[in-house]
Amino acid sequence: DRTLLLAGNWKMNLDHLEAISTVQKLAWALRDAKVDLTAVDVVVLPPFTDIRSVQTLIQGDSLDMAYGGQDLSAHDEGAYTGEVSGRFLSRLGCSYVIIGHSERREHHGETDAQVRSKVEAALRHELTPILCVGEPLEVREAGEHVAHTLDQLAAALDDLPSADLGGLVVAYEPVWAIGTGKTATAADAAEMCTALREKLRELLGADTAQSVRLLYGGSVKADNVAEITEHPEVDGALIGGASLDPDGFAALCRAA
Ligand code: 13P
Repeated sequence: DRTLLLAGNWKMNLDHLEAISTVQKLAWALRDAKVDLTAVDVVVLPPFTDIRSVQTLIQGDSLDMAYGGQDLSAHDEGAYTGEVSGRFLSRLGCSYVIIGHSERREHHGETDAQVRSKVEAALRHELTPILCVGEPLEVREAGEHVAHTLDQLAAALDDLPSADLGGLVVAYEPVWAIGTGKTATAADAAEMCTALREKLRELLGADTAQSVRLLYGGSVKADNVAEITEHPEVDGALIGGASLDPDGFAALCRAA
């Protein structure tokens, strides 16, 4: 049985001081909202410069929350100016790392091959990849969204040892639903997660495929999260804007 996962991708928001107050308030708000943290994994994904502060708070206060990075380098160390190694994230207690977010694919030209190298790098450092896939609007309008998204999945995972991928997280984020207020319907999310699960069986075998958590992302809020995560193939959500306000994010965790 897969534990529900609600991950807040802060993107380039909140400096390290704001991060501390946000995580502290989130912890209080989760407690006040009586969110059962044994039944749901709550994760925050802050900018790199916040991670040390978030670590100090979460570990120091034994908060029932995990955290991770929004990207990592495909390399472990060396002459890669501006890059951050998975080893460094791991040393800071990160459990997760987002890989292949559409904003990285779009603004930084990340290719499927680079995404795959980053998945391998994450696995080398015992970070759980949150692998993002999903189609732009014109692909959906052409009715090619399932094929497009499954191709991204296969390119990222093909021939990787399935034994390493039991903890994998895959987030379906249709590009047209990110930050636009346009949410895919629960049926759209369910359709894609069902197709992703089927493809994972092909790529990784039935047992591993069964343990992978599939998230939906794109304008998820407290008032639509329950409907989206109700389908048995949807195991949680990757949340951008609505994860920045601690009370709002706690309400969302409560509603899921
Ligand atoms: P929004 O929730 O702001 O639409 O962002 C979704 C997203 O890209 C999460 O990674």
